[in-house]
Amino acid sequence: MELFELITPATHPDAIHTQGAFIAGGTNLIDLMKLNVERPTQLVDINTLPLAAIEPLANGGLKIGALARNADVAHHPFVQQHYAVLSEAILAGASAQLRNMATTSGNLLQKTRCLYFRDTASPCNKRTPGSGCAAIAGVNRSLAVLGTSEHCIATNPSDQNVALAALEATIHITGAHGDRSVPIADFYLLPGNTPHKETVLEPGDLITAVTLPAPRPNTRSLYLKLRDRASYEFALASAAVVVGQNASGHIDHIRIALGGVGTRPWRAVEAEQHLLGKAPTAANLRAAAESALASAKPHSQNAFKIELAKRCLTHAITQATSA
Ligand code: SF4
Repeated sequence: MELFELITPATHPDAIHTQGAFIAGGTNLIDLMKLNVERPTQLVDINTLPLAAIEPLANGGLKIGALARNADVAHHPFVQQHYAVLSEAILAGASAQLRNMATTSGNLLQKTRCLYFRDTASPCNKRTPGSGCAAIAGVNRSLAVLGTSEHCIATNPSDQNVALAALEATIHITGAHGDRSVPIADFYLLPGNTPHKETVLEPGDLITAVTLPAPRPNTRSLYLKLRDRASYEFALASAAVVVGQNASGHIDHIRIALGGVGTRPWRAVEAEQHLLGKAPTAANLRAAAESALASAKPHSQNAFKIELAKRCLTHAITQATSA
């Protein structure tokens, strides 16, 4: 780890006018600094900014402050009652100790677990643009099959972000050019030729909050995570679903996002369209899952993820519609 200066800004404007790296829970950044993957010369401790509140909104939705701890979000009664998928996703990730420290915005910006990204001796276009990608011909069992490019196949590792994609969250940002709000569907960038650029954030931009739309009546939501071991493990495939059915059992509202298989939290719009107006029969769910993974591209060790993600998606919707 290299020497760095620690700054504690008093206000948002003070924070965004620094040139340093923001630190909140530090559960990801400090690890990467110890590995010399991240080498900020200035750390901006934003923990004193008033951004930790979790507040129901007048429109029936919810505002989650950027600095709300993952554990506080997961155990918040309003979240558990109206956004179960978010609570379940957060509790499926990391450990209790990490969830006590990690923040909502830090989780949004969580870095990939691709082992070459974390190893400074390996080529990695995401860490060192133009150096190559060791994973494509290397160890890629845990990496992405959706949204990849010839320059990067890294998976977005977060569970929280998959639930936020299914809930159609909005990310609120303040920066040098003022405040703006970005739907989560537009927040993450595909790797393309520039895998080092992961989101629409510009230097100095600070996430201030995440808002969720009001929950639709008569919907259920659920997060299903498949992984190599039962706890403290990243997803091989996961599915966040929000689903509603009419009186005859046909699906009249559905949102699906996949985790563990995409270079960003992967909204499965084709599968949603396929299921709308239909009964959640095994045949309809399988056809929807096929459409969700139709563009998947396997690499040498991760072809199994395509079938795994299909089964994860169908099982999640079966569970959500069978209560
Ligand atoms: Fe780096 Fe992405 Fe390749 Fe992993 S998959 S080595 S993060 S460029």
